Amino acid sequence: MLVDSHCHLDRIDLTPYNGDLEQAIMAAKQCGVERLLCIGTDLSNAQQVKEIAETFNNVYASVGVHPLDVTNNNVSVEQLVELASHSKVVGIGETGLDYYYSPESKDQQRSSFHLHLEAAKLTRKPVIIHTRDAKEDTISIIREHSCDSLKGVFHCFTEDLPMAEQALELGFVISFSGIVTFKNADAIRQVAKQIPLDKMLVETDSPYLAPVPFRGKKNEPKYVREVAEYLADLRGVGYEVLAKQTSENFDRLFFSK
Ligand SMILES: [Zn+2]
Ligand SMILES: [Zn+2]
Repeated sequence: MLVDSHCHLDRIDLTPYNGDLEQAIMAAKQCGVERLLCIGTDLSNAQQVKEIAETFNNVYASVGVHPLDVTNNNVSVEQLVELASHSKVVGIGETGLDYYYSPESKDQQRSSFHLHLEAAKLTRKPVIIHTRDAKEDTISIIREHSCDSLKGVFHCFTEDLPMAEQALELGFVISFSGIVTFKNADAIRQVAKQIPLDKMLVETDSPYLAPVPFRGKKNEPKYVREVAEYLADLRGVGYEVLAKQTSENFDRLFFSK
């Protein structure tokens, strides 16, 4: 039992599966990955991720505009709420701030992030946050919107322990990708060791960031198994314990009312 809490099924390389997404999902299942959350990144793929979620009963979707796509996607709160009104759309995002790759669009990223947080509160669906090199702004914008109905996940976490602690304080959970297996990821490993197990999710972010020993290759959902095994080792718990706990965490975040 394992959940890939963040993947881009509309972008993964299906060459090994003769172009058949179902086979990629089956391959993941054979590695114990029973459910997947397919993430929306802009207005143009919202329909596609919904269709994927409609096609496969173990796939869910989210809708939102990625911080690196804000310049081409003018979205409103109403639009997000409308896009999210679908039984298999369980989250809003990915949204957030990425000052590393796109410092020039900071203002647009911030206003888009505000809109997504509003939509998350209105729909009572968790928000999926992408943040890089934007610690202070990310935390302070979430804090502005903080309320009982706002919850979510910091996906593909690459920041330090103080930032993780602030995220937890705000009621968010933290998701680790294959980056935690990389040689130079000591700071992330510290976070992964120290946060409570019941605040942790696992993901591939496929097709990006394949974990060791597949680093540099195209990533796919079945490799979330490597991330989970690595984290179990790091925490000194059995793989089954970590798989079960992260799956329960996923359910609590996305399916509890
Ligand atoms: Zn991301
Ligand atoms: Zn992503």
